[in-house]
Amino acid sequence: MATYDYQNILETIAAEVSPLTWQGKVADYIPALASVPLGKFGMSVQTVDGQTFSVGDAEERFSIQSMSKLFTLTMAFRLLGDELWQRLGREPSGNPFNSLVQLEYEQGKPRNPFINAGALVVTDVLSSHYVQAEIAFLQFMRKLTGLTNIHFDTVVAQSEIATSSRNAAMAHLMKSFGNLKSPVDIVLNSYCHQCSVTMSCEEIARAALFLANHGEVPMSGERLLSVSASKRISAVMLTCGTYDAAGDFAFRVGLPAKSGVGGGIVALLPGEASICVWSPGLDENGNSLAGGKALELFTTLTGRSIF
Ligand code: GLU
Repeated sequence: MATYDYQNILETIAAEVSPLTWQGKVADYIPALASVPLGKFGMSVQTVDGQTFSVGDAEERFSIQSMSKLFTLTMAFRLLGDELWQRLGREPSGNPFNSLVQLEYEQGKPRNPFINAGALVVTDVLSSHYVQAEIAFLQFMRKLTGLTNIHFDTVVAQSEIATSSRNAAMAHLMKSFGNLKSPVDIVLNSYCHQCSVTMSCEEIARAALFLANHGEVPMSGERLLSVSASKRISAVMLTCGTYDAAGDFAFRVGLPAKSGVGGGIVALLPGEASICVWSPGLDENGNSLAGGKALELFTTLTGRSIF
């Protein structure tokens, strides 16, 4: 199916998932996320040859939350290459994203970069390299989108910091095993700021396009990752990117993806397009309910997936 069909497909998907956007539960661990209304739905497809297709609330910004982990991982991979995996695993955790249990068994080495412990190690790598890792992250997102007006939501960031006891516990445990170099509060502050950034589906899809293009930004021709590194990150998305439901997600959707509790999911159709969908109502695993269904419909209706 040619790319010019995407607009029709997105409109079909939006109509079909509309009832689902009222179901699920918005993240409520901080007030700023709890107040996001149900019923929102946006989806955007960006092709590597420069086309954009969007539907619904695709231009409305929302909290990227754990989708930030994809971009911080890219930054850390650029700095350390495969050496990164000495401090991080790459297996699905089979435990909640904020679990402490495995960390104890596995000597402070997180199972993968997309659970919180792993993302904290990734942020620590950035903190060792940049004076303020969160500013470097913001600059990276601005560069990827070509937009200077991407910002932290400081209310969300402060709430995250104020409720970060569990993340702090993980960070301290990892530090006790020697797997965190910077001070815990520096790493937590940076991590909470990264999660607080607000972006729209169109902006996130654009930012992730280099991964769909095997590591090279299609617009500028700049290579951010080698083909191999891009493959590795995409593979970790497939196996670990959607919380405890990555197996079911791969089964239903068949695309590498990373979700966040803000209700966003970014997915890759390698060699062709990046896709971002947003709907804030979450399923029991913390993935967007309508968003997951929308991606499932996308691969069904287009007949395209990585398989
Ligand atoms: N800021 C959230 C936390 O660390 C991220 C949640 C998520 O999107 O997975 O708890």
